[in-house]
Amino acid sequence: MKIIVQKFGGTSVADAPKIRNAARRVIKAVENGYGVVVVASARGKQTDQLVADALELNPNPPKREMDQLLSTGEQQTVSLFAMALEAMGYDAISFTGGQIRMMTDSSHTKARIQSIGAERIHKQLDKGKIVIVAGFQGIDKDENITTLGRGGSDTTAVALAAAIGAEECEIYTDVDGIHTSDPRIFKEAAKIDEISYDEMLELAHFGAGVMHPRAVEFGKKYDVKIHVRSSINESNGTIITHEVPQMEGVTVSGATVQKDMAKISLVGIDNTPGNAAKVFAHLSKAKVVVNDIIQTEISPEKANLSFMINLSDLDAAKEAAEQIKDEVNCDSIFVRDDIAEVSVVGIGMRTHYGVAEKMFGALAEAKVNIDSITTSEIRISCAVDEDQAEMALKVVCTAFELGKPAEHRRKS
Ligand code: ADP
Ligand code: ASP
Ligand code: MG
Repeated sequence: MKIIVQKFGGTSVADAPKIRNAARRVIKAVENGYGVVVVASARGKQTDQLVADALELNPNPPKREMDQLLSTGEQQTVSLFAMALEAMGYDAISFTGGQIRMMTDSSHTKARIQSIGAERIHKQLDKGKIVIVAGFQGIDKDENITTLGRGGSDTTAVALAAAIGAEECEIYTDVDGIHTSDPRIFKEAAKIDEISYDEMLELAHFGAGVMHPRAVEFGKKYDVKIHVRSSINESNGTIITHEVPQMEGVTVSGATVQKDMAKISLVGIDNTPGNAAKVFAHLSKAKVVVNDIIQTEISPEKANLSFMINLSDLDAAKEAAEQIKDEVNCDSIFVRDDIAEVSVVGIGMRTHYGVAEKMFGALAEAKVNIDSITTSEIRISCAVDEDQAEMALKVVCTAFELGKPAEHRRKS
């Protein structure tokens, strides 16, 4: 049987009419001969509401309890979805992450999928049922409920698509596909028809909230065709796929802003082998995810070591830095909690020059100070003041003409 995974995000299942609308998409695929596995998110802003409820009772809630609570949002959607399908004349069954053995590690609130039991899903599909799975959640080896990080239902969907051998994974959302930038900030952003896994991975890691980064990683690793599209209209969205040579003709495919970042600098640590290893071993023990690392020798004896993290990890990271400070003979610790990162991404950067010059020029003209710069082969990121972040993104988008579709920006 041909199988398709269809994932519906929060806005696409926010109320009864929207769930019915989503159910119609599912029925269409069933009528086209597919076995359908649905992955659903919590309705509307429910996850935000649950977070707020938790913080009202405890400003620092235990992460295990947070996962136990947040997973209920998705659990409600999947049973409602199954009920809607039954009412429309189709057999459906819903499952939580635990019920389909979505096994993860024990990093509560940012767990990573380790394995998925596909048998239960195949059994139900063979019986002719539509299977509906709660996104964003799993269980660890001790049966504790875990969640995959905000936006993690995308990852559930792509990982499931890989595990059950689906032909395609459709991600239904509130935009027509991946755009050159967040259309909520840069209104003129153009829709992208096709994008490589590598570009999407960089965009997702650096702030394009439309896809969870781990979902793209799974897609690339297990060769899952991902189609990001609108749940409101029938138009084709964006296919995330392997790179083809003509993609290189576009120098910059997209731009992002990542807010809520912080930077910790260990100033004047001893310039001796093993110190960076000590610092990052400590951060990893504290389960802090580090985004960018910059180390510079400032004299034969001393070096500065800076790293970027999400604001939510700041307390844990500061504590870890304080604990390791003396061991690496650090003069002082400098912390910034008001940082955002603006990035441009494109595989065309491998073969075309001038991107850095254009980006820095646009920021200079807009009087945006650059705190630090990091790059990969296909990305340039500038850390800037959070207050200027959206303006900085807009000027960068304008400089690279990201309001125009790719075919108008292609170079030979
Ligand atoms: P869902 O609830 O369906 O998972 P999300 O809110 O997680 O939806 O993702 C969709 C949103 O992502 C869009 O409304 C858009 O504002 C935002 N977004 C950020 N960057 C991009 C981008 N490059 N292309 C499209 N949407 C983007
Ligand atoms: N409901 C979760 C969130 O809001 C997961 C998701 O929507 O993907 O982050
Ligand atoms: Mg999302």
